Amino acid sequence: MASLVVLLLASVFLLSGCKTVSRPGTMTSRKGDEIVVAGRFVHTGTPVVLWMDPGGYDAYRVERRFSPIQRSDWAHSTEEVPELRSPNRYSLRAKGLSDEEIERVRGGGWDLSLLQRVVDQFVIHFDVAGVSRECFKVLHDERDLSVHFMLDLDGTIYQTLDLKERAWHATTSNTRSVGIEIANTGAYRSEEANALNKWYAKGEDGRVRITIPTSLGDGGIRTKDFVGYPAKAELVHGNIQGEDLVQYDFTPEQYRALTRLTATLCRVFPKIKCDYPKDAQGHLLPRKLSDEDLDSYQGVLGHYHIQTNKVDPGPAFQWERVIGGARKFLMDAESLQTPRAKE
Ligand SMILES: [Zn+2]
Repeated sequence: MASLVVLLLASVFLLSGCKTVSRPGTMTSRKGDEIVVAGRFVHTGTPVVLWMDPGGYDAYRVERRFSPIQRSDWAHSTEEVPELRSPNRYSLRAKGLSDEEIERVRGGGWDLSLLQRVVDQFVIHFDVAGVSRECFKVLHDERDLSVHFMLDLDGTIYQTLDLKERAWHATTSNTRSVGIEIANTGAYRSEEANALNKWYAKGEDGRVRITIPTSLGDGGIRTKDFVGYPAKAELVHGNIQGEDLVQYDFTPEQYRALTRLTATLCRVFPKIKCDYPKDAQGHLLPRKLSDEDLDSYQGVLGHYHIQTNKVDPGPAFQWERVIGGARKFLMDAESLQTPRAKE
């Protein structure tokens, strides 16, 4: 009898062993919607191109991405672009870590729980560059800056660095934040509004659509023959930082992707509250937070909430659409996790 039990146990072990041990050379499958957080793949439910993927943008690289290849190395790059001061356009999220923790992660080996302790803001930008390829060129090749995500006109998300890195996009909030640059030519004072004519025109059907300037070719948009339309057909007027501005809205594809990414980040980082800065009446605060409020703020926010010299993501950005949508995903996920709680 005892030998039968041993035999049974052995067969259970062998069977489960067959399931868990991978054969050498087996490829892990990816769905193409994963972001990377401290070395882990996290699903978003929307297309993501990583820095290591074909067609990706790699902010770990020292050389310029778009200069002639013979002169792209760091030595030539510093010679030709004085703004490039550091071969690494990112650094360590060191603030708030003990000396022992800094020693542990200085080589890049972050664990998720430590990162969750440090990251509590998600900063939204528009890129002014208009398309993500151009955005990466400006940040990486010309300005010695970086950002974790870029969101192109067709809704493709590009991740350029693991979220464990301190990217350079939002001055005082760099250490504690994740950043995204959304492709959009930006917001302008009404006397400068003709800058928008370069990027927007009415089609034959009378609808305003995005017209990528011919100097940028196809703009590097991943969806072939993509035609982008602002989510709101009319020019949006609004006041940011005390200035009256006009801007065309982001595309529905961008809102769709950003809503899913926001839900993902709020779920992965418990300190990022799924909310945006509001006044006492519950309306969006359209200016920089006081230093004190910014210091204690944990959640999603615009670049203009951090710096007085910034107006992005501009008056057209639909906060409620993104945050409300993300909250819905979070609630759905909760009800999936506890199916009996509602009964
Ligand atoms: Zn910005």
